[in-house]
Amino acid sequence: MSIAICPGSFDPITLGHLNIIRRTAKIFDRVIVCVMFNSTKTAPMFSVEERLDMVSRAVAKYPNVTVDTFSGLLAEYAKDHEGAVLVKGLRAASDFEYEFQMNLINKQINPALETMFLTADGKYTFLSSSVVREMAMYGADLTGLVPDEIIEDIKRKAKQWRA
Ligand code: ADP
Repeated sequence: MSIAICPGSFDPITLGHLNIIRRTAKIFDRVIVCVMFNSTKTAPMFSVEERLDMVSRAVAKYPNVTVDTFSGLLAEYAKDHEGAVLVKGLRAASDFEYEFQMNLINKQINPALETMFLTADGKYTFLSSSVVREMAMYGADLTGLVPDEIIEDIKRKAKQWRA
């Protein structure tokens, strides 16, 4: 059985992320979306539990996609899923440089681990969680940027942050 791991901080999940997950689910038998606790990203908008809950609702319609969370190094997580491949989305040259570096580090820790990249859909090239967070803070309409299932969660959180 072929297994893919789609990792990310998903703070919050966007339609760009979901596009990569959906395409990965067509190629692999099973996809694990792993919500990572990223120590370099300070003060996330959503807790890991909230992100896990939002991602779970957004991928509920895909039968071969499951959701998990991990707070250590991704390369260590992958060791528990032998033969799994990391699948990541690439938006721009800046993503490429970062991902290339991460891949080299992952290989040092777990030489058997392979990473594959899917190019971002043209519609979502400029979409990131940080863009969504910023728009939410200004009360902008998030339709077409994030899954419909989580729009209310983001609105509620943005309201709390503004208060
Ligand atoms: P972000 O970079 O938005 O904070 P994450 O750290 O959660 O997001 O990223 C998880 C993965 O999703 C990374 O491989 C990233 O390149 C990819 N990704 C993020 N946004 C998009 C998008 N709009 N289209 C395709 N891939 C994306």
